[in-house]
Amino acid sequence: MSDTIFSKIINRELPADIVYEDDQLLAFRDINPQAPVHVLVIPKAEIATVNDIEAGQAELIGKMVLAAQKIAADEGIADDGYRLVFNCNQHGCQVVFHLHMHLLGGKQLRGLAG
Ligand code: 5GP
Repeated sequence: MSDTIFSKIINRELPADIVYEDDQLLAFRDINPQAPVHVLVIPKAEIATVNDIEAGQAELIGKMVLAAQKIAADEGIADDGYRLVFNCNQHGCQVVFHLHMHLLGGKQLRGLAG
């Protein structure tokens, strides 16, 4: 897999507003936020798309959701609610080919139709 912007953020070659980190995951604010809270949760492992997730990585993906749960609580949006989104490939409008989960909240979100 080629180096992406997110690999550079993991390696601290590019700056980011990091809100969560552990040995397997990193989470940082989206540079072009679509909601008052817009955080990207990524695995440090290089996984290009949802299509590339392997069965043995199921726990890692679960940890991404738990990290999002914690970040939402830290950001004060857990009770009002939020949205978790994975975009995959062209029809999903994926532009960065390092797996990431969007955490969006802090306002009333609208429908998913795009
Ligand atoms: P995708 O459409 O691939 O699901 O979303 C990629 C997201 O990455 C977009 O929301 C975009 O704003 C965000 N993004 C792209 N480049 C950077 C960057 O250099 N830093 C940060 N923090 N976010 C980025």
